[in-house]
Amino acid sequence: MNVKDTHDFTGRRRKWGRGRAPDVHDPYAAATKLKSPAHCTTCGVIYEHGRWAWPGPEKKTEGEEILCPACKRIEADDPGGLLVLEGTFWPMHQTEILNLLHNVEQQDKKNFPLHRIMSVAADGNAMVVAATDPHLVQRMNDALTSAYNGQADVKHDTDEYFMQVNWFRDA
Ligand SMILES: [Zn+2]
Repeated sequence: MNVKDTHDFTGRRRKWGRGRAPDVHDPYAAATKLKSPAHCTTCGVIYEHGRWAWPGPEKKTEGEEILCPACKRIEADDPGGLLVLEGTFWPMHQTEILNLLHNVEQQDKKNFPLHRIMSVAADGNAMVVAATDPHLVQRMNDALTSAYNGQADVKHDTDEYFMQVNWFRDA
């Protein structure tokens, strides 16, 4: 494992690790003291029997009113991971790349309702996609790499629930 003490793309100081991510828990999930059932007043996701799920015909929005961990991260603007697109390829394929990434989010969100894209922003020559969960960043990178190849630099915070992938491709 190669650990470097550097800043992330948002300027936050982090200790980077490579290889297998450590078993770090999401503090936003842990801080949510939950009585089941509960539902998020912002996004509508429900918590029942120890699991998060989207309300459906047989799952009702009931119980305690809470703010779910994903909405807490969005409110705090504190992503669980960043996908940073670099190089000259992405600006020329921005629409199709964003469609791909949003499709990954839609699929992931069905099984993991707390996995969301928080924001997409241009930053200099890079495009920064912030997500609520590092696993979503990993899946977006997998989809991006299988569709367009490119080079991915994958690193995780050794102490926090955070991953950053810098994906690079020139046109
Ligand atoms: Zn929510």
